[in-house]
Amino acid sequence: MDVTTDEVIFDRNEAVETPPEDDCCPICFSSFTVPCRGNCGHWYCGSCILQYWNYAAVSKPCKCPMCVRHITTLSPEASLQQRQEQEVKEVLAKIRRYNRLFVGGLTGFLQKLQELPLLIKRLVWHMMDPDTNTLYFHEVRIFAMLMSTIYTAAEFSFIPTGGFRIVTVFDYAAIATILILRVVGIYRRRRLAQRVRHIAAAGELEPE
Ligand SMILES: [Zn+2]
Ligand SMILES: [Zn+2]
Repeated sequence: MDVTTDEVIFDRNEAVETPPEDDCCPICFSSFTVPCRGNCGHWYCGSCILQYWNYAAVSKPCKCPMCVRHITTLSPEASLQQRQEQEVKEVLAKIRRYNRLFVGGLTGFLQKLQELPLLIKRLVWHMMDPDTNTLYFHEVRIFAMLMSTIYTAAEFSFIPTGGFRIVTVFDYAAIATILILRVVGIYRRRRLAQRVRHIAAAGELEPE
C-alpha cells in the first residue's frame, strides 16, 4: 500500500528530470547531492532542503529559500530511484515522508495522522531548542485537552485528580511538560558549550 502512494507522489511531477547542469544548490553552494526539485521549480540537495525544513513550523511545509513559495512536493531526480547507496535511499525515504505530509484534503490528513510520531518528534525538538521563541503552549494545551476528552469519554479514572477537574490536570501537565523540555534544552546546550570549550582548551595546550 505504501509503495502505491509513494509512486503516485513521485509520478505527479515528472516534467523536469534533472537540475540545470551549471547550477549549484542555493543552500550549500556545492553541486547537488540527491537533487530534488520543489513544486516551485527550484532544485536543492535533498538533505539541504530537509534540514532547512527543520527551521520551519512543525506541521507546515517549508518555504522555498529562493522564491518563498510553500514546497509541498519534492521530486527527486528520476535516475536516483535506481541508486543503491544507503545514503541516497535514506534521503529518498525522508523525501517520501515529507511529500506524504503535505498532500491536501482527506488523504493528506490521514497521512499526517500516520506521520504523527514524526511530527511529535519535531515538536519536542523545537520545544527543547533554546533558540526557538515559540513555546508551543497553544499546540500542547490543545493536545492535552484532546487527551482529557478521550480520557473522560473512555471513562478511565486511573489518574488521581485531587479534586481538580481532569481537564485542569491535563492542562497543568501540558504546561509542566513544556517548561521541563525547555529547561532540558537549555541544560543540553550548556553541556555542549562546556564540552566544546574543553576540547578547544585541550587543543590549545597540545603541542603541534
Ligand atoms: Zn545543498
Ligand atoms: Zn522556489
